Amino acid sequence: MPSTTQLTVASTERISAGLVRVRFRSDDLSAFAGSTDSDRYVKLVFDRGEGPVLRTYTALEPDVEAGTVAIDFVVHGYDGVAGPWAAQAGPGETLSARGPGGGYAPDRSADWHLLVGDESALPAIGAAVRALPTDAVGYVVVEVPGREHQIDLGAPAGMDVVWVFGADDEAGAQLAAKHPSGQDRALVDAVRALPWRSGRVHAFVHGEAGAVMHGVRPYLLKERGVPRADASISGYWRRGRSEESFRVWKSQLATAESAAG
Ligand SMILES: Cc1cc2nc3c(=O)[nH]c(=O)nc-3n(C[C@H](O)[C@H](O)[C@H](O)COP(=O)(O)OP(=O)(O)OC[C@H]3O[C@@H](n4cnc5c(N)ncnc54)[C@H](O)[C@@H]3O)c2cc1C
Repeated sequence: MPSTTQLTVASTERISAGLVRVRFRSDDLSAFAGSTDSDRYVKLVFDRGEGPVLRTYTALEPDVEAGTVAIDFVVHGYDGVAGPWAAQAGPGETLSARGPGGGYAPDRSADWHLLVGDESALPAIGAAVRALPTDAVGYVVVEVPGREHQIDLGAPAGMDVVWVFGADDEAGAQLAAKHPSGQDRALVDAVRALPWRSGRVHAFVHGEAGAVMHGVRPYLLKERGVPRADASISGYWRRGRSEESFRVWKSQLATAESAAG
């Protein structure tokens, strides 16, 4: 992701209880030209005393001609860098963004689609929904803390949208600690409850890494036999870890999995 784009906050809007949409303008969005992945993301660079801090976010609807792009930030409390920044950001503030990267857009030749995630993946899920053909069928499953966190996804009629009202972060951590697997099971339980459709599925599954990698992923890949090539699955964040410490968790998981074959 070598390109760097300078962004200036144009406006901010609270689009749900948990999401703040920050609209940016830029004199040069050429790095986004030709980027067609619906999950396109950037690394936002926050300048801290101790050096730059990178945070990964989904870049929504870049318009290269108009010089506009938006990011929906989960405002998850006082911890961290990007969430607290977004909660108080105002017009004129500047950030730089490295990227974009990406790796998924709905495969129109699939028989059905499965889009699963939590609030952090809601922006990418919304972009995927907007990229679906109008006759698409399948499911969207999103875990949010409560009804006031829902947004209108405008999904095609054939896509059943299931909202899972999980716990907020603190209660989620307590639930996860109580469960023998150490994971919050609400998301995977909701996915397991879906009637499985016939034909080839194309899946997009992202969110809290424990729930995604230890809950939904084994269900889809092992129990349902979904080929890896037909599923975009990864953690977007890890409960109790900053993005830096989450990167360590990811690399430890990859090492353990490759050792296990
Ligand atoms: C490809 C990709 C795309 C992403 N797109 C988006 C996006 O569009 N919008 C978005 O909001 N996030 C998105 N994320 C997730 C985001 O990068 C992380 O949530 C990130 O950790 C937030 O940084 P922070 O500085 O706010 O918190 P950090 O400093 O990283 O973490 C501080 C504390 O907050 C907790 N925390 C972090 N994120 C959350 C959360 N979502 N809910 C509750 N607690 C949290 C951590 O566990 C930690 O305890 C994406 C991640 C990836 C990999």
